Amino acid sequence: MVLDNILHRGVGMTSQRARDRLVVRLREKGIRHPAVLKAIARTPRHLFVDEALSHRAYEDNALPIGNGQTISQPYIVARMTEAILEDGIPDRVLEVGTGSGYQATILSHIVPAVFSVERIRELLVQAKKRFRELKISNIMAKHSDGTMGWPQTEPYNAIIITAAPEMIPDSLLEQLSIGGRMIVPVGQDRSMQKLQSILRTEDSYESQVLETVSFVPFRSGKA
Ligand code: SAH
Repeated sequence: MVLDNILHRGVGMTSQRARDRLVVRLREKGIRHPAVLKAIARTPRHLFVDEALSHRAYEDNALPIGNGQTISQPYIVARMTEAILEDGIPDRVLEVGTGSGYQATILSHIVPAVFSVERIRELLVQAKKRFRELKISNIMAKHSDGTMGWPQTEPYNAIIITAAPEMIPDSLLEQLSIGGRMIVPVGQDRSMQKLQSILRTEDSYESQVLETVSFVPFRSGKA
């Protein structure tokens, strides 16, 4: 019980109070959706970063997770999650870029089924371990190049891409259901990427820019 408290509720810088303060900051930055704020409040982000960085887990910043990758800034995770909830709760969500598993965990508290792919094996293995430890059973995660999406379980009502492609791969757009939404940072230059929200209609795709963002690059091939 004591160990469980330390692990999941945390002490001091990793406590429930630290998470609640983060929620207050996100609200101030404009995040409104109650389910998103609730998911952030209950998810122990300090378990998704290296122990040496856990005291910084509830700052609203991206942090390194190894292999040259980062866990996204909480505000961006919240913004992207809120953006796919615009038309209601999607049944099935595909995430490309599992990374630490934090974004997938936030999604798992809101939507029925999360599918997540990661090209770096080491990160995927660690993320799956976290899902097990947190007893999350509605995330299906696999080691794979997300350029091709996850064709066996398509279509998805929403797709979240957490690394920035120069151009969105067609196969990903094709795995979106009609009426579904994709949230994706697009652009090569890290300081000039645009976070786009793309709605699939009966016969086309409608895109809207949400804001300027800075994501790690989308890369093809497995590592
Ligand atoms: N959603 C993650 C953010 C991780 S950073 C989190 O919450 O922690 C983005 C991740 O995308 C990196 O781990 C990177 O390896 C992965 N990535 C980049 N290109 C990819 C691709 N083509 N297929 C799958 N994963 C990819």
